[in-house]
Amino acid sequence: MTTTQPDFALNEQAQSFLSRDVHHLFIDGQSVPAASGQTLTTANPSTGEILARFASGDRADVERAVLAARKAFKGEWSTWTAYERQALLNRIAQVLDQRFEELIQIEAMDMGAPVSRLRNTKPSLMKMLAFFASQATTISGETLMNGIPGNVTTMTLKAPVGVIGGIIPWNGPLNSQFWIIGAVLASGCTAVLKPASEASLSVLRVAEILHEAGVPAGVINVVTGPGREAGHALAAHPDVDRIAFTGSTQTGRSIIEASTVNIKKLQLELGGKSADIVCADADLDKAVPGAAMGVFSNSGQICFAGTRVLVQRPIVEEFTARLLAFMETLRVGNSLDSATTMGPVINQAQLDTVLSYIDAGRKEGAELLYGGQRLGDDLGNGYFMQPSIFGGVTNKMRIAREEIFGPVLSILPFDDLDEAVAIANDSEYGLGGAVWSENLSTALRVVHGVHTGTMWVNCYGHIDPLVGFSGTKMSGYGSKGTAAHMDNYLYTKSVYIQL
Ligand code: NAD
Repeated sequence: MTTTQPDFALNEQAQSFLSRDVHHLFIDGQSVPAASGQTLTTANPSTGEILARFASGDRADVERAVLAARKAFKGEWSTWTAYERQALLNRIAQVLDQRFEELIQIEAMDMGAPVSRLRNTKPSLMKMLAFFASQATTISGETLMNGIPGNVTTMTLKAPVGVIGGIIPWNGPLNSQFWIIGAVLASGCTAVLKPASEASLSVLRVAEILHEAGVPAGVINVVTGPGREAGHALAAHPDVDRIAFTGSTQTGRSIIEASTVNIKKLQLELGGKSADIVCADADLDKAVPGAAMGVFSNSGQICFAGTRVLVQRPIVEEFTARLLAFMETLRVGNSLDSATTMGPVINQAQLDTVLSYIDAGRKEGAELLYGGQRLGDDLGNGYFMQPSIFGGVTNKMRIAREEIFGPVLSILPFDDLDEAVAIANDSEYGLGGAVWSENLSTALRVVHGVHTGTMWVNCYGHIDPLVGFSGTKMSGYGSKGTAAHMDNYLYTKSVYIQL
């Protein structure tokens, strides 16, 4: 592992956005201060310096935003045809294509992901917009047979569910907000988005850009502010029809409780502790970097990170040696340096959490093979953690059971496939997972055996909206991608027509 420093000046539009005194809420097509006048600050995780001040929204602001979203839902937006909504999504894709560099620089400074990584996410964003544009014109019900005497024609219609509350985590809001925005625009719903206070800026900037690109006032609103106030007010609001939430399992639980007020539909994408299974016949040239970047990408702050790397006993030594050699190719540094491959973690609290897990791993008898320290010197003001590897981990240890959400990889040896599957399944989570093997029968045994929402074979982390991504067990429910995603934004009306 080596370290890097920034190598370029900020994009002019990003600079102009970041130089605002306060970033206000975005409600009904306008930037408006929080009713309370209160503000919060966000820091650049690469430097620890205050980056921006933004509105601290509360219940009153959520009230205003939901009113605007409801008015827009019933207004002219409801008359837009499927083709018009599709054209809007295509236009947004063109605008974002041009504005992408500005947006990734804002994101890199707000949440610390390296620009090199963010640049590589552009094709996924474009695919997502193309997917939702296609969904706008393919929403369909059915004509159905019936057993009613007389001349009765029966069918189902799909209709937009109404106002969506979108509660977004900090670990990649630039892209993740589009799982909500895309479906909202394709279906004809409206939304109030509540980004995480640690990283709200790209969501605020996108709302403005969407409005300039032709999204009508009130269709996409953003209320920033504390989760326990603004987020809770949204989840508990009686005039919000549905919540799309991505975040921790703990917060997911509070959202389920709050949603009972009006029996909201929920889509919950929660935490994970995914198993990445490397079989003795795996191609290690691919499995080693694949397993490493399945954890160290985004500094381990990825819900589906393959943090439990299960390695078949005969290759543990070779796999470990190659993994340690791979670590020397990682470049940890300022998110604005295009050579950086691993940035900081989001803030001091997250850094402390990661360090506490390093401590716990040591105390429970795991062997720290790499890293384990906060980085100092030039990176000392930021929240930089050495990428870290534990060997000799058992699935009973806390580092193998709890979501660390930091750059910590655990190696767990196994003897045979049944044991690997049993270890993989011995988790309260079921989000991602992978198997590396040159034998398709071996790989498919694992795919069928592991109880998880998504499995990769000889790769890690591909997500395509045409194929989908979802969790099971305590990782939540409600698919991202495929027609099932759109179903979360629609309700079905059964229609009986007496002719
Ligand atoms: P978090 O649960 O702390 O916060 C997520 C969002 O919920 C934020 O906007 C926050 O302000 C809001 N919030 C907090 N308390 C709330 C409450 N009581 N009511 C309503 N909203 C509330 O999660 P985080 O720390 O921002 O993100 C990390 C977590 O997200 C990890 O557990 C990670 O696994 C998970 N995650 C899951 C996925 C997925 O697709 N499954 C993707 C990304 C992140």
